[in-house]
Amino acid sequence: MEEMKRELADIIRAYHQKGWSPATSTNYSFRLASNPNVIVISKSGIDKSLFSSDDFMEVDLKGLALPAYAGIRSSAETLIHCKLYELFPEMMCIVHSHSVYSVLQSMKNQTSVELSGYEVLKGFEGICTHDTTVQVPVFDNTQDMPAFAEVLTRDKNRLTVPAFIMRQHGTYAWGRNLFEAKRHLETAEYLFEVDWKFSH
Ligand SMILES: [Zn+2]
Repeated sequence: MEEMKRELADIIRAYHQKGWSPATSTNYSFRLASNPNVIVISKSGIDKSLFSSDDFMEVDLKGLALPAYAGIRSSAETLIHCKLYELFPEMMCIVHSHSVYSVLQSMKNQTSVELSGYEVLKGFEGICTHDTTVQVPVFDNTQDMPAFAEVLTRDKNRLTVPAFIMRQHGTYAWGRNLFEAKRHLETAEYLFEVDWKFSH
């Protein structure tokens, strides 16, 4: 677990360098195969440029802090992590960005971002050719996390790639391990940027 925390903390600081987590925003989590009922998630309010392996806490599958972390606040978006792990039980890591291009794309596209013909689409698990079209869903942003979790349940069939955008907010991506979750977020963010630049 300590190694996973260090690896994810390194990635969190690198993503801050990319401008994906301004002003303490964004959140990240993972589970271990040895105990998938525990979610290790970033604490709330930590400056992501300084994020370290000490800045994680543990919650249960309902998002409640485990006793060792009583009184410490996890991310306000913890319930999104809980719901994604429930919907995709084989997934073990979730990463999130507040990138400029995800926000721009979500203001242009009402229901999904259509991405077609790009080589980097192969970064999404199961896609083996550039010669395809992918829809990344866009959901309206909200502060009502139980309601948003219900939207994810209702629209699970729209999650055909392991990523979605919350409108004017950012991207969530997930994977069976940290490497895969990272690849999925970077794939999505790269494609949002190149697609936006092509059309503007
Ligand atoms: Zn967020």
